[in-house]
Amino acid sequence: MSEFRYCKLSKEWILFAPERLLRPKEFYHNGNKKDEEETCPFDRNKEHLTPHEIARISQDDNWQCRVVPNLYNALSIDIEPKSSKEGFFDTFSGFGAHEVLIETPFHDKQMCDYEYNEFNNYLNLLQQRTQNLQKDIRLEYVSVFKNHGYNAGASLSHAHTQLMAMPFLPKKIQEEIEHKKRYYDEHKRALLDDMVYEELSFKDNIVCENADFVAYCPYASSVAFEVKIVSKKKLSSLVEFESKDISSLSDMLHDFFQRFKRTLGANVAFNLIFKNAPYVNYDEKTKEYFRFSIQILPRLYTMAGFELDSGMLINVVLPHVAAQAYKES
Ligand SMILES: [Zn+2]
Repeated sequence: MSEFRYCKLSKEWILFAPERLLRPKEFYHNGNKKDEEETCPFDRNKEHLTPHEIARISQDDNWQCRVVPNLYNALSIDIEPKSSKEGFFDTFSGFGAHEVLIETPFHDKQMCDYEYNEFNNYLNLLQQRTQNLQKDIRLEYVSVFKNHGYNAGASLSHAHTQLMAMPFLPKKIQEEIEHKKRYYDEHKRALLDDMVYEELSFKDNIVCENADFVAYCPYASSVAFEVKIVSKKKLSSLVEFESKDISSLSDMLHDFFQRFKRTLGANVAFNLIFKNAPYVNYDEKTKEYFRFSIQILPRLYTMAGFELDSGMLINVVLPHVAAQAYKES
């Protein structure tokens, strides 16, 4: 059974999920492709190896992508959200949702190989799930992320994205929201809109853009070859997207991942994070101060002692150099 424990020193909740230790460790295998394909629970015709299906998108009676509960879940929707004390210490039950979106039925297909249609199915299904989880008023935030490659924390190589919905806002997200609200109160504009405006004027860090989205390497990128894809429209979350917005973002992701593959190669580990507005206190004003974005963080270098101590990252590639490489690829 998982639980949150509050660290009074860092003023942060830590999630303890011992069941995660039992996860299959495909990457620890000796690289035997045959073993991997025989046991992969995410392939077509292996549906019996996953828990009951939550949602799917099909074409011609074949599923294209599907969502299942995470078998090695860090959070569970079936337990009561409850805080308690253990003497001096505070805990909270491991209540929440932990789902896996299997992006493709094909074992070896990766995001870099997707066509427009595959991105479109993927985003439509993610939207369905984020909208559905929002209806549960006990959930305040959903973290939507993809780990690609062992260095990015993936335990299975089959392409998948995870959704973890939680009963409270993590400290980092809470601080980000407060900062964005304060900026809006002062300037009457969203902070990220202003940053995008500056990047577009500066030009050097822009990778690609269309009418609705822009991809760029941020001026103060946290890691080498980081990319942010930001909505130019007043959209704060995937839940607000119309089908034409999903279509436009699919185009953008398709264009970007072709560049990513040509620049860094298909095997580079990366994390992809959807920055959606939290569920809690979500209203019309949210669209004014919070802007939807996607963060792509290649994992070319490992964090070391200095980063862990100071919280300050050392980036060895300037963003205009990274942007130039993506642009020319
Ligand atoms: Zn597979």
